[in-house]
Amino acid sequence: MTKKLFSTGISFLIIYMFFFVALGNAQTAKNVIILIGDGNGFNSEWAGTYYRYGEIGKQRYQTFPVVLACTTYSRTNKDVELPAGVTGYDPKVFWETIANGTQGTEFTRTTDSAASSTAIHGGVKTSNGRIGMTYDKKTIELISEIAAKYGKKTGTVTNVPMSHATPAGFSAHESERGNLGTIFLQMAAETSPLSVIMGCGHPFYEHGKPIKIKDNEDQKTKTKRFNCVGGEKNWEIMKSGTFNSFNVIETKKQFEELAAGKGTIPDKIIGVARSFSNIPPVDGYLDEMPQTQELLNKNYKNMDWNELPSLSTMSLAALNVLTKNNPNGFILMIEGGAIDHANHGRNIAASVLEHTGFSKTIDTVIDWVEKNSSWKETLVVITSDHETGQIWGPETFNDDNNNGVYDEGDSFNEFRQIQNNGRGNTPSVQYGSSGHTNALVPLYAKGIGADLFFKRIKGTDQKAGQFWKFSGQYVDDTDIFHVIKTVIVP
Ligand SMILES: [Zn+2]
Repeated sequence: MTKKLFSTGISFLIIYMFFFVALGNAQTAKNVIILIGDGNGFNSEWAGTYYRYGEIGKQRYQTFPVVLACTTYSRTNKDVELPAGVTGYDPKVFWETIANGTQGTEFTRTTDSAASSTAIHGGVKTSNGRIGMTYDKKTIELISEIAAKYGKKTGTVTNVPMSHATPAGFSAHESERGNLGTIFLQMAAETSPLSVIMGCGHPFYEHGKPIKIKDNEDQKTKTKRFNCVGGEKNWEIMKSGTFNSFNVIETKKQFEELAAGKGTIPDKIIGVARSFSNIPPVDGYLDEMPQTQELLNKNYKNMDWNELPSLSTMSLAALNVLTKNNPNGFILMIEGGAIDHANHGRNIAASVLEHTGFSKTIDTVIDWVEKNSSWKETLVVITSDHETGQIWGPETFNDDNNNGVYDEGDSFNEFRQIQNNGRGNTPSVQYGSSGHTNALVPLYAKGIGADLFFKRIKGTDQKAGQFWKFSGQYVDDTDIFHVIKTVIVP
């Protein structure tokens, strides 16, 4: 009897070992696609969804198997170790009153995009402004660098400047996020892990139209204009069509041909869209609802739509470069960077248009996975780096001093839901501020290794769960790095 059990045990062990050796880490992902809606908190997410669909739950990613929330707080630059268990998000404090939405602790702050991108892509809490560096300016190994070690290609796509904080934190190391030129040159260096860099920063165009340059332009303005491409000299080289071993493109036609897989696909690409600061959400209108085009025209004046690729187009172009002759897979980070700008401006119409451009890009990515790859080899993670604007429903507070934001002297009523005004219409909201907050942000994941997020739950916010109709469970932004690292390391 005992002997029989023993031999059965041995057989199982042998079978188990066989599978383990044959299959390796069963959770190894070939590809990872991270999509970050900058400044896209829960209510921004809901506003965009009401506009696009008229109801929550209709976005394809809202039915992903992993629907969680994520904390985003950064650390201070004080020279003290973050004590174990210290967290910058306490649901009890947060839901007490609207004023607490921007509160830090002795050790933590409301994050900016630099610190949160570093947390998401490097797994370390840092202070605001740092790119791929600790608060005391030590280099952090980033997910792009780890991926490159395993032969994966990597890339970043954004609709704001190429070396802006969110894409920067994916591969660069710089103590000040404002050094856009230095960061760009790191990203485009021969030693960079990146094969794809796409976004804005064009020195001669804004929103698709040529920038009028004065004959006597002062040096400061000129320097600023070339800032995102690392200076005038480097732009002169890029204009020839190559920079280091990257091909360089800029016209909408070039982006579209690359997205369609036409012509020779280069090994490495820099795509500088014809805009300095951002690409408006050219696909923010709703098909079969032509009146939504008016909303776009009203919110984005003085644009040349025919010169600007959409975020979806850029993403497909990036995927074609990353998958060219590449059996090892890739990591791609795609940012909808201007949801944040719209919410800073307390402009909900711009916010939902930006969100629509972003969510259509997510659809493009989902289609790409289902047609060209599979959920068995690709992991898709969708999140935000922080909430912007303290968006709540109308009359969450009384704006007693009538200055458009919640501040001292205003009376807080209660947290109210934003108001759905139906598909194609901007929902009614109240903005509490024009800055970032400490609120939880949504996190969705699907594909190989997605369930690893459930092993990293940091807490449950019952009220958030009731308010936004999910479990209320949340992870931290650093967990995104740890999950991705676990699934890409064989
Ligand atoms: Zn911001």
